[in-house]
Amino acid sequence: MQFLYALRSKGVTDRRVLTAMERIDRALFVRGIFADRVYEDMPLPIGAGQTISQPSVVGLMTQALQVEDRHKVLEVGTGSGYQAAILSHLARRVYTVDRYRRLVSEAKAIFEALDLGKITAMVADGCFGLPEQAPFDRILVTAAAEDPPGPLLAQLRVGGIMVLPVGQSDAVQSLIRVTRTDAGFDYEELRPVRFVPLVEGLGD
Ligand code: SAH
Repeated sequence: MQFLYALRSKGVTDRRVLTAMERIDRALFVRGIFADRVYEDMPLPIGAGQTISQPSVVGLMTQALQVEDRHKVLEVGTGSGYQAAILSHLARRVYTVDRYRRLVSEAKAIFEALDLGKITAMVADGCFGLPEQAPFDRILVTAAAEDPPGPLLAQLRVGGIMVLPVGQSDAVQSLIRVTRTDAGFDYEELRPVRFVPLVEGLGD
């Protein structure tokens, strides 16, 4: 309850998003010494030098993505799997990719334990998207690029939406929403954020 209250007070008001976040226990996605801070609104380390995002940011990004039941969604940056688990309560199908094999296999184990059969997680360089499953209705990138990667723009369906942080890795970045129209792309700046960088190539 406290957790949902904190989300609402930071601007997460979409009822479907709040319900999805209520159903997914963040504690399942964080291990070790940080486990006792799992219901606080802060990012936490998850291994491989990566972080699980701050819950309010997860909520605001999910809300900005405007996911509907019939949508096929791509997430770039599986990390702990928390964001993908939430998306799976809102979408028809979720593909999520990460450059670290270890993170993908840990996230897969959680998806199986929770019976989240709509999610397909795989090791891939998300800078290139997932051409074999394109086009996507929605794309969410949870690592910061300097610019929206061209292959991701190309894999967005007309009418589709992509939400991603852009900017230099050590500076404050901007969360932006890109909408693909018949004529091209519309860009909207949403808020300042701070994410780990989108890195090309696979990890160890
Ligand atoms: N969405 C995650 C948090 C992501 S942290 C969660 O809910 O826990 C960002 C993730 O992006 C990291 O796991 C990192 O390995 C991944 N990443 C960075 N560059 C990538 C790339 N080119 N392709 C795929 N994943 C990438």
